[in-house]
Amino acid sequence: MRLSDLHTGDRATIIRVEGRGVFRKRILEMGFVHGKTVTVLHNAPLHDPVYYRIMDYNVSLRRADAARIEVVLIESADTVDIPPETETTVMHAPHAASADVLSLPTDERLSPPETRHEAHRIRVALIGNPNCGKTSIFNRASGAHEHVGNYSGVTVEAKEGYFRHGNYKIEIVDLPGSYSLSPYSPEELYIRKYLSEETRPDIVLNVVDTCNLERNLYLTLQLKEMGLPVVIALNMYDEFERKGDSLDYPSLSAMLGIPMIPTIGRTGEGLHELFDALVSVYEGTNTTVRDIRIHYGSIIEPAVESLAKKITQRLVLPYALPARYLAVKLIEGDKEISRYIGEQPKGQFILSARDFALHNIDEYLTVASDAESIITDHRYGFIAGALRETYTSNNRQPKTLTDKIDNIVTHQVWGFPIFILFMFIMFQATFVVGSYPMGWIETLVGWVGGLAESLMPDGSFKDLVVDGIIGGVGGVIVFLPNILILYFFISLMEDSGYMARAAFIMDKIMHHMGLHGKSFIPLIMGFGCNVPAIMATRTIESRQSRMITMLVTPLMSCSARLPVYLLLAGAFFPQSAGLVLFGMYFLGILLAVLMARLFKRTLFRAEDVPFVMELPPYRMPTSRSVVVHMWSKAAQYLRKMGSIILLASVAIWFLSYYPHYSGEAELSALSTQLQENIQLTEEEKQAKTEELERQIHIRQQEESYIGRIGRAVQPALAPLGFDWKMSVSLLTGMAAKEVVVSTLGVIYTGDGDDSEEATQRLGERIRQDRDANGNPTFSPLVALGLMAFVLIYFPCIATVVAIGRESGHWKWAAFSIIYSCSLAWIVTFLIYQVGKLLFV
Ligand code: GDP
Ligand code: MG
Repeated sequence: MRLSDLHTGDRATIIRVEGRGVFRKRILEMGFVHGKTVTVLHNAPLHDPVYYRIMDYNVSLRRADAARIEVVLIESADTVDIPPETETTVMHAPHAASADVLSLPTDERLSPPETRHEAHRIRVALIGNPNCGKTSIFNRASGAHEHVGNYSGVTVEAKEGYFRHGNYKIEIVDLPGSYSLSPYSPEELYIRKYLSEETRPDIVLNVVDTCNLERNLYLTLQLKEMGLPVVIALNMYDEFERKGDSLDYPSLSAMLGIPMIPTIGRTGEGLHELFDALVSVYEGTNTTVRDIRIHYGSIIEPAVESLAKKITQRLVLPYALPARYLAVKLIEGDKEISRYIGEQPKGQFILSARDFALHNIDEYLTVASDAESIITDHRYGFIAGALRETYTSNNRQPKTLTDKIDNIVTHQVWGFPIFILFMFIMFQATFVVGSYPMGWIETLVGWVGGLAESLMPDGSFKDLVVDGIIGGVGGVIVFLPNILILYFFISLMEDSGYMARAAFIMDKIMHHMGLHGKSFIPLIMGFGCNVPAIMATRTIESRQSRMITMLVTPLMSCSARLPVYLLLAGAFFPQSAGLVLFGMYFLGILLAVLMARLFKRTLFRAEDVPFVMELPPYRMPTSRSVVVHMWSKAAQYLRKMGSIILLASVAIWFLSYYPHYSGEAELSALSTQLQENIQLTEEEKQAKTEELERQIHIRQQEESYIGRIGRAVQPALAPLGFDWKMSVSLLTGMAAKEVVVSTLGVIYTGDGDDSEEATQRLGERIRQDRDANGNPTFSPLVALGLMAFVLIYFPCIATVVAIGRESGHWKWAAFSIIYSCSLAWIVTFLIYQVGKLLFV
């Protein structure tokens, strides 16, 4: 009976609140929870809203909302209407827990809600693979004698039975067995129809064969996706125990958000607990129940999300099927669902949106894979991940190639060293292999610079082109090959399925560190670019974990930081550049873990919700998808060159060129002085002139706008060993971290001798830079500190914006700026000061 069915004066006990999400939460918060008594104060026909009294206060509800609250009538105002009682069992308000009774107001305690009433019904459907023991459980529970057979296809259509459990009358339906809910066989279609139309049960009792979990859970995931409340009977538990394997089913149950009870269908063992669990799920008091979400990967997932959003906005469906489920089905190419959607008003719009999405997906897919198989892979990957953490087989022989590879790369001891080794190879290759094409581009940039130098007339425009544009953009563009190589490795890792394993290995470590395993996927994505990584934290359901992950993601060295590392490591650590590179990435990971731990202890205290790391089967990466990936990154990098890097370079050049001080007066004064001097040789005179030119150049830079800004900031950074030029490039690098390099390219113009600098590589110019006293501004130690600072400080503007948007609060964006800059200062200070003690 529904709350909306009651008349004025009726009293009833609340059984449960249907629906999900915000609506349910609001209603529950208003006090409409299981076991509470509600009285109708005013309910005139056609009158909306209706007034109720609950827990000593009055509330009004819209009739439509009241219709979603299930109640049992305690006392009708109009006693004549009550049908004669036939049941012998006395109906208690279901589990009106003693604490609740005590807290009730006096008048309610005087007339306890245990009056004559029919037991409440729960409609349960038995679903499971063929031959897993559904009919056995059905017979045991209902006392029926349906045919049980040890072969599939015995139950051909639904059979109903009834039994009592506690205060409920349970109506149980035995359905044919099926492996999946895809529309490939008549049984599967039949079941799906049964589950999605008016016959939709209150609870699905999913019977699984515990000896065959991997295959059985595939159906379970689909039930979950349909938004059905599921309880699992881990059947054949006797056989499973005999097999000698072990299963941590409480963890598995927590990961999947489904209560699981071991049962033996043949003897009826465990059925009582099973039905207890079923009742608690029905009443909404089971704490295990949780929505799960399978992430379908970088190609499919965005399409699913946008389609689901359109379905929510445009369609009003008669049965409450989750929009995400429909979206996944449409992308899978499910004909039945397509037809069903097509019949709905505005359904055609959804179908054309689906076609468009599929068309886009096709661009990225290869002949070998299609949307449907990717979706299946991810479901099985989800199951494999969950079982890998909870299931231990005593049979050590791996079955498939994927199992064999996984036994090595996710090995308890070897998994981590293998991961580190792979990372090391990746960064070594990025540097070593990348240095050849990098050299060619450097030569080309130098040649263009030299050409401009010799062809253009002297003047400020020439300086702008040579120092500003060629120096700035050219300094960054040389790293294009390295970035492509890095992305080559990243896409290999993603496409082969190793990325998921890397996350799996880190998951264990992260658990020890108190952080969520699932957080590691966004973190690894952060190696590419932090912005999509921060968006990827959406897959993390717990708000606290999501916030922590968002705040530490900027510590992952994105590809924009790579040019800085390459420049400095190449200039100051030419022998071990790959190692330094690897060290910087590792430092980022280490800090991320430490900071996550700190945040968890201080800002976001929360208990861990177990999550599943998905382990899809390994696939040979196709050259096409790798090339597509690399090309899109190259295009992105070049666009960045043409826009933000170019603008920043030009702006920095202007700021460093003006106010212009040419020092002509001093030079001519010197030359007249030298002409009169007869004691000096020509060489000595030449040296004196050059020295003055150098001084003038330094003064020009220091007196320019940017020099003033830099010198204003520099005292704060002096304890880190940074001079004003580095300080300036750190300031400009806030826009995007490559700008650090382009700024260095513009302001490290060498010693002011124009003819040489244009063709000189930036690394050399930096190494040879001297301050006014002739001391080198850089040293390997300073370079190391600068790399660490660039790694940690200020996430770029785009990342800060992403953090603000995704966290829903700009204070977190501000927080990420403040904490990262402070951390950068502290870490660099330690590196510089300790390094100075050790090496100088
Ligand atoms: P259904 O196809 O899912 O309806 O499965 P049935 O109920 O027909 O059972 C299939 C076979 O498994 C029958 O031979 C049952 O006796 C047997 N069976 C059912 N439950 C159990 C159990 O918990 N343990 C064992 N060892 N066998 C079971
Ligand atoms: Mg059967």
